Amino acid sequence: MALPSKSKSLSDWYQAVVINAELADYAPVKGMMVIRPNGYALWEEIQATLNPFMRDAGVANAYFPLLIPKSFLDREAKHVAGFAPELAVVTIAGGEKLAEPLVVRPTSETIMYAMFAKWIESWRDLPLKLNQWNNVVRWEKRTYLFLRTTEFLWQEGHTAHETHDEALAEQKRALSMYLTLYREYLALAGIAGIKSKSETFAGATTTFTYELVMPDGKILQAATSHDLGQRFGEAFGIRFQTRDGNEGVPWQTSWGLSTRAIGALVLGHGDDRGLILPSRIAPCEVIVIPIFTNDDSRDSMILREALKLTRSFPARWNARLDDRREVSPGAKFYEWELKGVPLRIEYGARELAAAVVTMVRRDNQSKTQVAMSQLSEVMQATLENIQQELFLQSERLLASHTHEIATFKEFTEIMEGPRGFIRAFWCEEEACERAIKEATHATVRCLPFEALPESGKCVYCGTNARYRWYFGQSY
Ligand SMILES: [Zn+2]
Repeated sequence: MALPSKSKSLSDWYQAVVINAELADYAPVKGMMVIRPNGYALWEEIQATLNPFMRDAGVANAYFPLLIPKSFLDREAKHVAGFAPELAVVTIAGGEKLAEPLVVRPTSETIMYAMFAKWIESWRDLPLKLNQWNNVVRWEKRTYLFLRTTEFLWQEGHTAHETHDEALAEQKRALSMYLTLYREYLALAGIAGIKSKSETFAGATTTFTYELVMPDGKILQAATSHDLGQRFGEAFGIRFQTRDGNEGVPWQTSWGLSTRAIGALVLGHGDDRGLILPSRIAPCEVIVIPIFTNDDSRDSMILREALKLTRSFPARWNARLDDRREVSPGAKFYEWELKGVPLRIEYGARELAAAVVTMVRRDNQSKTQVAMSQLSEVMQATLENIQQELFLQSERLLASHTHEIATFKEFTEIMEGPRGFIRAFWCEEEACERAIKEATHATVRCLPFEALPESGKCVYCGTNARYRWYFGQSY
């Protein structure tokens, strides 16, 4: 079945690719999804990328329970207000009405910090840096596989520090880890910056974010890291004896990245043939396809050589041999292109006779014959080149979808037309932010870290403004 055209209808294309490439499927409960092996393998690649960065930063993996006493959330007023409409609550269990309702975690700050209060006694117990790979539930009325689902997988890091400076350094480190994942592995260029007050995480002091523009001009929040200040410490009674013998409240951070990253990867690359996976994140980087001839003795030689070839490749490529007899080469090409494997090696009678292979790039479909003697060098260089080219394409998309504007009329026209990022002066008043959102459905996405103060007038209300912020319509 042919896919819908990506440029004509991104959302139809996206859903067809996710389903046909067997990344995920709709679950019986509305809003929930099943992550299939091809999708889960991408998640495992993301885990395998982030885990060493976390380990190097002294963050240890742990696991906390799914159910949280509702009173825990109530302890931090802003936090409970932030999540109230999205909560799933358990009131009956074991056939009895519970004395206290339990919340299915929308995030784990509250349950983790209740435990932190028990474990942290002195400055010697700090910093405490934990991460968990888990699921969370935030009730959603509509489903958009990977991008918006009621239950999703993520990692949430939570740290407690002696000083605010240390916490700020951790908040920064976590975001820079996400930038490395997105830029160097997922090959997705975006804007890193700080959130406006109203878009800051519930209960946090500041939120750092990485924002991506997708081909349809919508904006996807790719990962966030939060400075929680001392609010949760105070709410949960986390106290520690300081170096000078006084009592202190630790400074905390939290940070997270979800399976939404897979949605960004699919939307951000891909073409009318299906997925295009960057080499460094592809679970399988090379697919080897023997081209059979219907001559049994020759075919067994082709198969033997193709197998030898596949086994000779470096293990990190996870090369696979598709030796199915019942499927035609054309159908195999179609299938592996749909699934986004970066490199295809074709091996048949011609290749056998000439001591070459035919190599086809997924990203630009270019086809070359490579001498066996140079194969592994050429393939390595090509895989690296695919990685770089995809990032350059993503950078070009970001540039062409970012609009510098001066008037609110232009703002409205862009949001009714091509959308994308709008870069404009804003007064930083919440009332103004709300009015812009009502008029255009665009929200303040972030202030880039590298933004310099200027003197300008707010694009909406005309009062003095110091910075050009990024706006856009989010998923
Ligand atoms: Zn304004």
